[in-house]
Amino acid sequence: MRSIFSPELVNGPFGDPALYVDFRFEARALLIDLGHLDLLPPKKILRISDVFVSHTHMDHFCGFDRLLRICLGRDTALRMFGPPGFVAQVEHKLAAYTWNLVERYPGDFVIEAWEIDAAWQAHGRRLRFRDRFRPEPLETRQLSGGVLLDEPAFRVRAALLDHGIPCLGFAVEEKAHVNVWKNRLTELGLPVGPWLKELKDAVIRGAPDDQPVRAWWRDRDGEHERLFTVGVLKDDILRLVPGEKIAYVTDVAFHDDNRRHIADLAGGAMRLFIECAFLDEDAALAGARSHLTAGQAGRITRECGAEFVTPFHFSPRYEGREEELRAELEAARRAET
Ligand SMILES: [Zn+2]
Ligand SMILES: [Zn+2]
Repeated sequence: MRSIFSPELVNGPFGDPALYVDFRFEARALLIDLGHLDLLPPKKILRISDVFVSHTHMDHFCGFDRLLRICLGRDTALRMFGPPGFVAQVEHKLAAYTWNLVERYPGDFVIEAWEIDAAWQAHGRRLRFRDRFRPEPLETRQLSGGVLLDEPAFRVRAALLDHGIPCLGFAVEEKAHVNVWKNRLTELGLPVGPWLKELKDAVIRGAPDDQPVRAWWRDRDGEHERLFTVGVLKDDILRLVPGEKIAYVTDVAFHDDNRRHIADLAGGAMRLFIECAFLDEDAALAGARSHLTAGQAGRITRECGAEFVTPFHFSPRYEGREEELRAELEAARRAET
């Protein structure tokens, strides 16, 4: 089974946090955290529709300028989500530049910036390039279940965690994954083709069973078609399985409240991206900075039941000791208690 998402850390385990979540079947991507983005080519930046920022420490937010510069003058839109205070910080970033030349650019670039408060209300502003990024208020939304984005094929949820300051963790969840029984398809005399993707999309979007489906293909005898309904093909050739979840947790203190919230967010994740800033031998330092050690990250991974784990945000003090960090995480993950 192939997930619709292909996640990749932009800067590797020692660099600034930024997780690029590419869509396999669409020219679209999500970005989680906005560290240094110089390694991300413009064509990949332009695929980003939504940006999720855990908190605005510089290593998680300094990539904003590159993002802005690449998007300026293009007809494109970006939604951004962050913790309390985030909207004003985006506005301050934009206010740091002079915008008297906006008419010379061909396109408009629109940012919707949203921040989450402790009561899970989302407060937003629209900032339009053509309008020199003068903020327009958006209607406040009450979020349920921490869901920031809810689309037919996937949702993005957040958890409010503690890093000495509020810090968001994120989960990207594919709603359902549709597999095709190839042998049943052959029994019905139907070849694969673009019609199958249309059918899968219709099923994921919850199309009614009586909706017609046109199976069509071309061979040397010309074009053929057969008509079915979504309901019949769903029963005959498709198998719906739960979708995959990717979770992202960084810059968090190791305490019971955070662990409980992380387990809620990341429980059953296919892959957990988790910070691993320090080794256990420096646990006092990790505690003072509200960060995790590799051992603590391993325990959290076990508590979440994540199938795969990708540690990141290693402190530069461990340059050359990457294997120790990974080994400590693995040992704690596999420990019995
Ligand atoms: Zn931080
Ligand atoms: Zn950080």
